[in-house]
Amino acid sequence: MDRISILGVQFDAITKAEAVQRAMEDIRKGNEGYIVTPNSEIVYMARNDIHLKKILNAASLVLPDGIGVIHAAKILKKPLVEKVAGIEFAEALIAQMAKEGRSLFLFGAKPGVAEKAAENLKKKYPGIIITGCRDGYFQNADIAVTEINEVGHSDVIFVCLGAPKQEIFMHTYMDELNGTLLCGLGGSLDVYAGVADRAPDFYVDHGLEWFYRLKKEPWRAKRMMALPKFLLTVMKSRVTGKEK
Ligand code: UDP
Repeated sequence: MDRISILGVQFDAITKAEAVQRAMEDIRKGNEGYIVTPNSEIVYMARNDIHLKKILNAASLVLPDGIGVIHAAKILKKPLVEKVAGIEFAEALIAQMAKEGRSLFLFGAKPGVAEKAAENLKKKYPGIIITGCRDGYFQNADIAVTEINEVGHSDVIFVCLGAPKQEIFMHTYMDELNGTLLCGLGGSLDVYAGVADRAPDFYVDHGLEWFYRLKKEPWRAKRMMALPKFLLTVMKSRVTGKEK
C-alpha cells in the first residue's frame, strides 16, 4: 500500500472505509500493532524529533487527521485520498466491530469520562463489548498497563492521552498490553462522552474545524500557530527537497 511522506512522516493514502477494512483484517488475524492519526501540529513536532518520527512511521496505519495535512500533500503534489479524522475512523471502526461482537477497552481522559463514553457507545452500537475503562491520569505507567490487562484480552484498546503522549505510550507498551490493536485518538473520549463537542458540519466541510476550536478554546492559539509554520516548512521542503 502506498505511503506518502510529509516532512518525513509516512501517511497511508487510503480512504476511511479502507482504513477500517485494514484494521478489521488485523483484528481478525490477530496482527498486533498500533494506529496513529497525526495532525499538522504533530508532523511539525516530529520533523526535528527522530524518535517521534520513528514511532509514527512504525504504526500499522498512519492516517491524515486534519485539513493541514491534506493541504500539505497537495502542495507536495502527492495528494492523499481524503482526510481521515481519528474520531470518524474510530466510530466507523466501532460500528464494524459491533457487527462482529468484538471487544474494546477505553483508556484515557479525565476520571469518569471513559465510563460515560462507554455508556453512550453501547447504546449506539449494542453489539460492541466494552471490556473496561481507565482514566488517562496515572503516576505509574506500568501500573496503568497492569490495570488495563486485568480485564483480559481486548481486540482494540483506544489510547486517548493527547499527542505525542499516547503515541509514545503505545510504542513503549505495545508488547505488554493485552490487546491486538491500539489506537491513539486524542480527545475522542471527551466527544463520545458528550463533555466536548465537535465542530458543526459546516466547519468540518469547509476545512474550518480549527477555527471553531479556536473560538471555543482560545488558549489553543499558541499550539495552533504550528499550522502556518507547518505549511511554510512544507512549501520550503518542496523547493529544497529537505524534509525538515
Ligand atoms: N489526557 C489524559 N492524560 C494526560 C493528558 C491528557 O488522559 O496526561 C487526555 C485529556 O483529558 C483529553 C485528551 O487526553 O481527553 C487530549 O485531548 P486533546 O483534544 O488535547 O488532544 P489532541 O486530540 O489535540 O491531541
